Amino acid sequence: KPVVAIVGRPNVGKSTVFNRIAGERISIVDDAPGVTRDRIYAPAEWLGHEFNLIDTGGIDIGDEPFLEQIKEQAEVAIDEADVIVFLTSVREGLTDADEKVARLLYRSDKPVVLAVNKVDNQELRQDIYDYYALGFGDPVGVSGVHGIGMGDLLDEIVKHFPEEIDEVDDDRIHFSLIGRPNVGKSSLVNAILGENRVIVSSIAGTTRDAVDTQFIAADDSEFTMIDTAGLRKRGKAYENAEKYSVLRAMAAIDRSDVVLVTLNAEEGIREQDKRIAGYAHEAGRGIIITVNKWDTLKKDNHTLSDFENAIRANFAYLDYAPIVFVSAKTKQRLDQLPKMIQEVSKNQNRRIKSSVLNDVLMDAIATNPTPSTNGKKLRVYYATQVAIKPPTFVIFVNDPDLMHFSYERFIENQIRAAFEFSGTPIHIITRRRK
Ligand code: GDP
Repeated sequence: KPVVAIVGRPNVGKSTVFNRIAGERISIVDDAPGVTRDRIYAPAEWLGHEFNLIDTGGIDIGDEPFLEQIKEQAEVAIDEADVIVFLTSVREGLTDADEKVARLLYRSDKPVVLAVNKVDNQELRQDIYDYYALGFGDPVGVSGVHGIGMGDLLDEIVKHFPEEIDEVDDDRIHFSLIGRPNVGKSSLVNAILGENRVIVSSIAGTTRDAVDTQFIAADDSEFTMIDTAGLRKRGKAYENAEKYSVLRAMAAIDRSDVVLVTLNAEEGIREQDKRIAGYAHEAGRGIIITVNKWDTLKKDNHTLSDFENAIRANFAYLDYAPIVFVSAKTKQRLDQLPKMIQEVSKNQNRRIKSSVLNDVLMDAIATNPTPSTNGKKLRVYYATQVAIKPPTFVIFVNDPDLMHFSYERFIENQIRAAFEFSGTPIHIITRRRK
């Protein structure tokens, strides 16, 4: 999917415009940590064109001076985006900082769409012509707060999308390793390829910088591994912006059926691990928690179970994900990965017949009666699976407001107990029966 970045000096309203474009899909119902906070990456869609939106302003670059911040923001956008939205604001007029951003963007050969924000009424609209001076052609007047002009802006953005390249037919299971820097993703990629027979390797996408490698495992199963970690960008922006690795992770998640959320045994679990895992969960991908550098720990009888407990406590929302302890260095348990990836992929694609599903549902209700709210009792009529990848179930009830989170969780657990869904999130949607 094309990537669109919003760039501009502080206070022009980048986040507001970002939220407008990302729309409702931005309010995530999930309880995964880090999912709703600090959102800098969101899927969006306009007239059938899907794309990913990044708010480079959300990339925290620490205490760098103001100008450095703008510079690094622009660099990330120039490297990552297919289309850059250069946002300015009509309220403050053209500023020096706008001109500095413009100068940085001149250096890029990526298409730039100039937008003038805070055009909240007709009078202000006349002032947008001043922005021609920036040298990016026709400015598009918008109001993020009022949602004015967003359609025009989106039309202009999608016009610049690269021609869709026909993705070569590849029905192998696609997987990738994601994780913060230094957990050993590149080392694992190399170790996995060293252990298996590589068929072809190719660079996919124009700006995505992903290397796709097809290989055959010992049991003759075939995989496509997507590697965005290996091609690490140089430069200060990338080193400084910890959140930048989230962008890398998102690009990989986007194209994967299964992701190996990679942790570093030596350093333990960090906040950023949770954030990255949250994105994979939210995207509904198959997940295997892969603890690398297992060779570095001095082990006793408790080491493994202690680590496992720590993972379960820190990643409570990933209770469905299997855990594997590996070492890129000693190759420990790397041979188990192909089988695990296959299983998770199978579970992602599993379909349950409605009759069997409803038997499980009715049994569940019989053992744990539905809750009541204000004297009104939830009635559950029936359920049906409407999608795979991830398996998605619609439950028809008398009133969706009566479905408590904890009861939905109970139903999910009953479904998981009855059917093999390990490694895959499950989505449950509650609908009113018509
Ligand atoms: P990435 O940033 O996640 O791609 O991490 P790298 O693959 O570049 O690895 C970071 C560092 O950890 C390198 O110095 C590796 O040699 C080291 N490393 C990676 N995997 C292992 C492992 O399984 N055991 C040990 N002891 N070191 C490892």
